[in-house]
Amino acid sequence: MSKEQPAFTTYQNYINGEWVSSRSGEVYENFNPADTRQSIGRFQDSTSEDINLAVAAAKEAFEKWRLVPAPRRAEILFKAAQIIVDRKEEYAREMTREMGKVLKETRGDVQEAIDMAYFIGGEGRRLYGQTTPAELPNKFAMSVRQPVGLCGLITPWNFPMAIPSWKIMPALVCGNTCVIKPAESTPVSAINLVKVLHEAGLPKGVVNLVTGDGPKAGEPLVKHKNVRLISFTGSVEVGRIVSQAAAPDFKHCHMEMGGKNVIIVLDDANIDLAVEGAVWGGFGTTGQRCTAASRVVLHKKVYKEFLEKFVARARALRVGNGLDESVEMGPSANESQMNTVLRYIEIGKNEDKATLLTGGERLTEGDLKYGYFTQPTIFGDVDPNMRVAQEEIFGPVVSLIPCDSLEQAVEIGNNVQYGLSAAIYTQDVNKAFAAMRDMYTGIFYVNSSTIGAEVHLPFGGTKNTGNGHREAGTAALDLFSEWKSVYVDYSGKLQKAQIDEWKGTE
Ligand code: NAD
Repeated sequence: MSKEQPAFTTYQNYINGEWVSSRSGEVYENFNPADTRQSIGRFQDSTSEDINLAVAAAKEAFEKWRLVPAPRRAEILFKAAQIIVDRKEEYAREMTREMGKVLKETRGDVQEAIDMAYFIGGEGRRLYGQTTPAELPNKFAMSVRQPVGLCGLITPWNFPMAIPSWKIMPALVCGNTCVIKPAESTPVSAINLVKVLHEAGLPKGVVNLVTGDGPKAGEPLVKHKNVRLISFTGSVEVGRIVSQAAAPDFKHCHMEMGGKNVIIVLDDANIDLAVEGAVWGGFGTTGQRCTAASRVVLHKKVYKEFLEKFVARARALRVGNGLDESVEMGPSANESQMNTVLRYIEIGKNEDKATLLTGGERLTEGDLKYGYFTQPTIFGDVDPNMRVAQEEIFGPVVSLIPCDSLEQAVEIGNNVQYGLSAAIYTQDVNKAFAAMRDMYTGIFYVNSSTIGAEVHLPFGGTKNTGNGHREAGTAALDLFSEWKSVYVDYSGKLQKAQIDEWKGTE
């Protein structure tokens, strides 16, 4: 055991304030998705034994942490924020190496952790409840937030520091302790975040991190009897398993899952602006955002103009290693994700019989052959019921769907199993507001792409994207705390609500 994360490339679990190896001693290795000749490091291949230790540490730490005044808990987050500011570039580079997205975007990912720390740290001095009149005399009523207890946090690979920060930081400010199991392919960024919290003075056991595979390390966390809350971000398929595993113990269960987000472009739209939005929404983060714009529904009058400009922009995108500042799109984050992208391209070409307008191939020129690169791909004349227009691909593949009216566009937009984000490009304020009202999604943009959430607003989606909760914003407090209603009777006698009649003030 050592107090510090070792400088060599075997990363350890963080349990009870110490960096430790898995009980089995097993490790696994990750490689740079832009160049698989480069090792990122070895990570603990943990099992239920490691989860049990982490949960025990978090359980013990909870009894003290819940009593630390919330403004003092928040001070640790402010310190952490400052440390991350100082290391933003270093952490962004490490993230690009482990996950592939371009530097501009990994800087944004790290920035989200900074923003969340400052925003939710501020809540440490609020955590407002309500005071309210009681219906009986000489009685006082209020509601206060209490921590839920021990939180199990399970995160995906596409926002390797931002998403862990969205879960850990509000959990802490509300007085919970936690165990995080980050995505197996991107643990370095979560480890960096936890390292920072350690340096900022977080007491031992309050946050614990265990790396490893989903079924082996994630599932025991979800099923552990002492875990009271599960916050999961990932795919619908795994979300269903997690939600069922959490159900028998009635754990609080927060699920954020996939998306099939839409940009609607009406005939009065600024087409150049809409094209920029579609490029950013479709190919930013190589299409691997839950809010990615994988569908563009276009009014027939502007279909051709948009298509020509969009295809030209997609063809001109520079694809390569995200560490090169001039590169605009990196690789898929791992081999299986790239294979999914290539499989859906085949489905689009053969089963769906959509028109392939550009892209469609893996890129293998020069050093690109060592990474998981595919061309930015656009399908035209897509029927809204085709698989490429219905299923989450999570890659740089965009479907263009023609339509005749705003009403039809909204119907197409809503007709998917997901409901995360939607956008409309129009100059008509009436149409913009109608679409805002009628799109059943958790996030909506006017004259902007489907991506670009800010940490102080609620984040999440409807239908199969989520189970009704929201993270970020003050909504995060509702996730990570429970209400307690408190009645203080200072009348000195038994008073019965709903039963005693009001007899005046004699
Ligand atoms: P995934 O579902 O494969 O994995 C997510 C996490 O669950 C990982 O940490 C994984 O190890 C773990 N896991 C896997 N099996 C498990 C099990 N049986 N029990 C417990 N944990 C298990 O998702 P991914 O491939 O890492 O991420 C991509 C998905 O995440 C996409 O569907 C994307 O839309 C979604 N996502 C959603 C949001 C959102 O906020 N809505 C944000 C980012 C990503």
